[in-house]
Order: sequence, then structure tokens, then C-alpha cells
Amino acid sequence: MRLKEAGGTDLGFGSVIQDDNIDQIVDLYRFAQERDVEYATSTLHNAFQFHKNDNVMYDRVRVAKEVEKLIAEMLRSNSIKNWFRAYLNLGLIENILGHDRLIPCTAATDFAFIDPWCDVYACNVRPDLWMGNLRKQSWEEIMDSPKADEIRAKVRTCTQNCWMVTTARTAMRNPRAPQLPKARPFWWVVANKLRVSLGMPIPFDKYIDYATFVKDESAVKREFHLDDKPAKRIVQNADDEHYTFVGPYFNR
Ligand code: SF4
Repeated sequence: MRLKEAGGTDLGFGSVIQDDNIDQIVDLYRFAQERDVEYATSTLHNAFQFHKNDNVMYDRVRVAKEVEKLIAEMLRSNSIKNWFRAYLNLGLIENILGHDRLIPCTAATDFAFIDPWCDVYACNVRPDLWMGNLRKQSWEEIMDSPKADEIRAKVRTCTQNCWMVTTARTAMRNPRAPQLPKARPFWWVVANKLRVSLGMPIPFDKYIDYATFVKDESAVKREFHLDDKPAKRIVQNADDEHYTFVGPYFNR
């Protein structure tokens, strides 16, 4: 509230949905609504940029089912933004269960990631999708190069299955008119906004195959960092080889 009083306009809360906070997301969404600020969600991912390779969900079905409640709440609101966030959360359910993305990824075409050393990657998840360096090449040289075409081909067959705000929102946009959604999210929102307005339930079982989900019996418990243990600092210079310490990971 102090930020609002200070003149802040684009304010909101964000949650990385996981086992530990799933029981709080609907309450936090209502809290944000009551204060007229945004509420955005994502879920656990592993990525070289996050320096994480042990992010896995422990009880995927329980977490996914709770996200349904948030989707229904968002569709009940009067905000078009929240209606499409509801679809984005439908994609989070698929991601949490380890299913394929709702819409294919458009990394290296609709977005790219630039690291502090000016290296350009298709995304912030796979360090092997390196496209060029802005200290040595212009943006156009990188984006129009045969290397970029090679990377885009790898994106088309990528099995990492991320569904983060950047990778999901760009995939939901209409390529001809990026301010508008693609037909699939548009008609899903129309149909389910109508259902919710008429007091009907959203038929999640029609959209989500809850019988099939990834089981991580061998998943290692995530390392906890919110305690007093001193964190190990990793300092890298421009000429060092980067991102070699992350180890293998998968987002499914
Ligand atoms: S799905 Fe693949 S290409 Fe797309 S953001 Fe994830 S790792 Fe990158």
C-alpha cells in the first residue's frame, strides 16, 4: 500500500507455484484483487539462468487440482487480463503434470535471452541454444544468420516443455496481430468465461488427462536456501566458461 501511496501503478504479486505454497495461491489472488494489484503465477523450472537443476514437484496431481480453483476465480473476475491468465494457468497444470505444452514454444523467433556477457540465446533454459554475441555481431546479423535458423530448428523439437510467462505468453499471441490471442486460447476463454458466468463448472477433465502424469520416485528433495547457511558465491569473469556447473536437468 505504501508503494501505491508513493505513486506506483504497475504493482502486483507473483507466485512460483509449488507444493509448499499451493494452499495459499487463491487467498493471495483474492488479497491482490482486493487491493487492485496484479497477481501472476509461474511454476518450478530448471534452467541455466536460474542455476537450478533440482526443481521438481513432489505431489503433482494435488498441486494441479488446486490450480483449477485459481483458474475459476480468475474467470469470475471482470478483468480480461485475468481471463487469459486463467488459460496461462491451464498451461501450468499441463506443465505441473509433465504433459506437453498447450502451444509450441516460439523461442528465437518471438523472444530471446541476452546474458550479462552479451551472449544471445534462444531462451534462458538451454545453454546449448546459443545464437551469437552482441559485442561481436549486430542484432540483425545474429537473428538472420544460418546459426539462428539451426537454433530455431532445435526449438521446434525441444522436449524441455517449459511454460513460463515469457514462453507461454508469446506462444499465446497471434503472429499476425500480437496484441490479440491465437484462436485456441481465445475460444477457450470465451467458452469458459460463459460457463462460469452461468454458474456452470469448468470441465477440466475434458482438457486435462489426470490419469497420466510424470512420477518422480527418484527425485531428490530440493535444497533449502532460506536458512542461515552461508551461500557459496560463484564469481565469473567475462572470459570464463559460463554455466558449466549446473549439471543435467529436465523440465517435465
Ligand atoms: S521449451 Fe525449449 S526452447 Fe522453449 S523455452 Fe523451454 S528450453 Fe527453451
